Parts: sequence; structure tokens; C-alpha cells
Amino acid sequence: MSQLQTVRGTRDLFQDANQRHRFIETTASRVVELYGFEEIQTPILEPAGLFKRGLGDTSDIVSKQMYLFKDLGGDELVLRPEGTAGVARAFIQEGMSQLTPLKLFYRGPMFRYERPQKGRYRQFHQFGVELLGVEKPQADLEVLACGYRILKELGVLGSITLHLNTIGDEASRAAYRDKLVGYLNTRKSELSQDSLWRLENNPLRILDSKDPGDKNVVASAPKLSDSLTPEAKAFFDAVLIGLKALEIPFIIDDNLVRGLDYYCHTVFEFTTDALGSQNAVLAGGRYDGLIKDLGGPQTPGVGWAFGIDRLAELLPDLPASPEPIAIVPLGDEAEQAAILLSEKLRSAGLKTDIGYSGNLAKRMKRADKIGARAAVIIGSNELTAGVAQVKWLKTGTQESIALSELSNRLLDTDN
Ligand code: AMP
Repeated sequence: MSQLQTVRGTRDLFQDANQRHRFIETTASRVVELYGFEEIQTPILEPAGLFKRGLGDTSDIVSKQMYLFKDLGGDELVLRPEGTAGVARAFIQEGMSQLTPLKLFYRGPMFRYERPQKGRYRQFHQFGVELLGVEKPQADLEVLACGYRILKELGVLGSITLHLNTIGDEASRAAYRDKLVGYLNTRKSELSQDSLWRLENNPLRILDSKDPGDKNVVASAPKLSDSLTPEAKAFFDAVLIGLKALEIPFIIDDNLVRGLDYYCHTVFEFTTDALGSQNAVLAGGRYDGLIKDLGGPQTPGVGWAFGIDRLAELLPDLPASPEPIAIVPLGDEAEQAAILLSEKLRSAGLKTDIGYSGNLAKRMKRADKIGARAAVIIGSNELTAGVAQVKWLKTGTQESIALSELSNRLLDTDN
């Protein structure tokens, strides 16, 4: 019988990889809470219609990447491919418009049927924020500053650049779409198959095509920035001035449009040069029309998501976790006492490990292997005398310590 394996593009996360995910989630949660974001957990399963309506039929996600299936009752469901649409659905369903301005964050697995490669998985993990109900550019600045601070605290800014653009308001985009389509029609023969399809369905997407032929055509295309309405231009200028005041470096990238229908005005991506072709680590933008498109009240929004898996690959070495104390019982009576003693040490906040089997030498070897700071050796003599032999593993010295004193002495990390 063949061995059962994880589904292609999914992974078991344990030991160092899992520690990295945990560290990133803990750091990011702490930072976003400084900004007043509160956690929301939405289901992993959502109705297919949510993404079709929210992200747009022509987006890559909806047109070719969704884990879409009918359940046994015949309902069309999707394993969520991203977090914003679910948050917007919850906002409407739970009547959160009373609560604006509202700051929510989420984290968890997302699913996309993409070709797996380094930094790209079919089940990956995102952490994201949404600031709902504020139409001012200050909201864009606050979420950008928050994302920047997380990357800084994680120590990964060195290889990361913020790329920023505006795709304007609807009037700006409508004016631009006409100019762009006019231009692209004159160079149709040079476009890739994908872009010929985009030309009919979602021409702005051609701007961020990775195809070399498309890129060549795009290089001489009219610029979206020349079609901005005065309001859209003023909005973007306010974001740029704010970023300069916050001393957050950025590059304006005229061709950054992001793939989803719901974006407007500010769009951005923090990218790295350290992960090969999967270079986006944190990405997002403003989406003032999404909640209304999904049937809710007109509510502006701005947010981002980062890929935990990708950041985990960029992260420098993790801070060392506390070294454990190893309990080494010798004999049946001591085995029993060891459980009680370990619980006492854990109550004092000490990370404690019991070696379950083997002679003294074998258990001391395990103590070394787990990087223990001290080994607490107890046998029947020690139990009778109310003491333990403590071996400080860094210096190799050993002393007898009264059990009543043990937690205090072990908490003193100078040893
Ligand atoms: P997106 O929702 O496509 O803007 O993605 C936001 C972030 O999620 C990206 O910048 C990546 O860090 C991460 N991400 C997106 N797709 C994947 C994937 N298939 N595997 C791993 N990380 C991903």
C-alpha cells in the first residue's frame, strides 16, 4: 500500500518552521494591537458567491485558483483564498456599520490552486488587517505604518522595499481604461494570450503582467497617473506626504495595479529581493466599493495581508527560547515524586522536562540534548532528606539543594 502523503502544495509545520510561524503571529498580533486592531475569526469555508462577487470573475483567484466544490447538500463552497471578502461579509452580516471606524485583524490558512514552488503553497497562511469606515488618506497611512512596523520588528526590512501606486477613483480608471485599450489595440499582435484575454475583460491587469513581450508593450503605455481626477491626485499626494513625514521609504510603481476588482486609490506591495520570483511579502490597498458591492452599506476600507510562510523564510534566527530544567528521577519512588516536583516547578514558571526512561547516564545525555540549564537528580536518599542534587550543566558543578528552596534557586538564571 502506498504511503499517505500531504496534498501537493500543503505542508506539516513543526519544530523550527512552526516556531517561526508562531513568532511571526505573536509579534504581529502585539503590534496590530498597539494600533487598536481587534481579532476576528471568520470561517475557512465560505459560499462561492462571496468571492465571485467580491474579487471579480476575471481575477486570477476566481477564474483559476479557487478550491471550489459542492458539499453533500449541494451548496457551492470555497476554501477561502483570501481574508478581506470574509471580513466584509461578516461586517455586513453582523451589522458592524454601527461600530465604525472599525479595526479588525485576522490570521489563518488560505487556499489557492497555484503551481507550488519555493514560497508558494496551495495552503498558505496570511495575517491581515482591515480598517473599515474611514475614507481619509490618514487611514491608508496608519495601515501602512502598521505593516512597516511589523516588518521592522521582525528584523526583515533590510531586503524589503515598499512599492506604491494609486489606481484612482472610478472616474480616473474609466478615463484611463479608454486610453489604455486604445493604445493596446495598436500593439495587439505583441501581447501574450493571457493579455489578449485581459484586454477584453480586465485591461488594467496587463500593466502588471510578467510576460516579457507584454512588459515591452506596457513600457510605452499611457500612464494612469495622467488620468487621475484632481480628487484622486490629492488623495494620493496626501498619502505620499504622510509617508515622507513618517520616514517610511517607498518607490512609486506606475504599473502596480493588484489583481482584484475591489481595489481603488492606494495600492501597495512590500517586496523582497531575497526569495526569488515569489517576492511579495505584504500587500494590500484601499477598497471603498467592496462592502457595497456585497450588498452592505457604503463603507470605505483599507487593509493588507502578509504571507506568514514567506516571512518565515526571510526571518533571521529566532530569539532563543528559555532553557528547560531536566528532572532526572532514579528508582520507582522517585519517578512518582518527579511528576509532583515538575508540576511545582512549572507553577513557578520554569520550563521543565522529565526524562521518562533509561539509567542516569542516558537521562543526563537527554538533558544535554534538549539544552537544559540544570539537571535535578532525585533518588530515594534525596527524597528522605528532602533535597535534590542539582547539576548546573554549563559549569558542570553539582550541589545539594533543599526541595523547599529549589524553585527559587532554579529561577535565578545566573547559574
Ligand atoms: P495577495 O492576497 O495575493 O495579495 O497576497 C498577500 C500575501 O500573501 C502575499 O504578499 C504573499 O506573501 C502571500 N501569498 C499569496 N499567495 C501565496 C501562496 N500561494 N503561497 C504563499 N504565500 C502566498
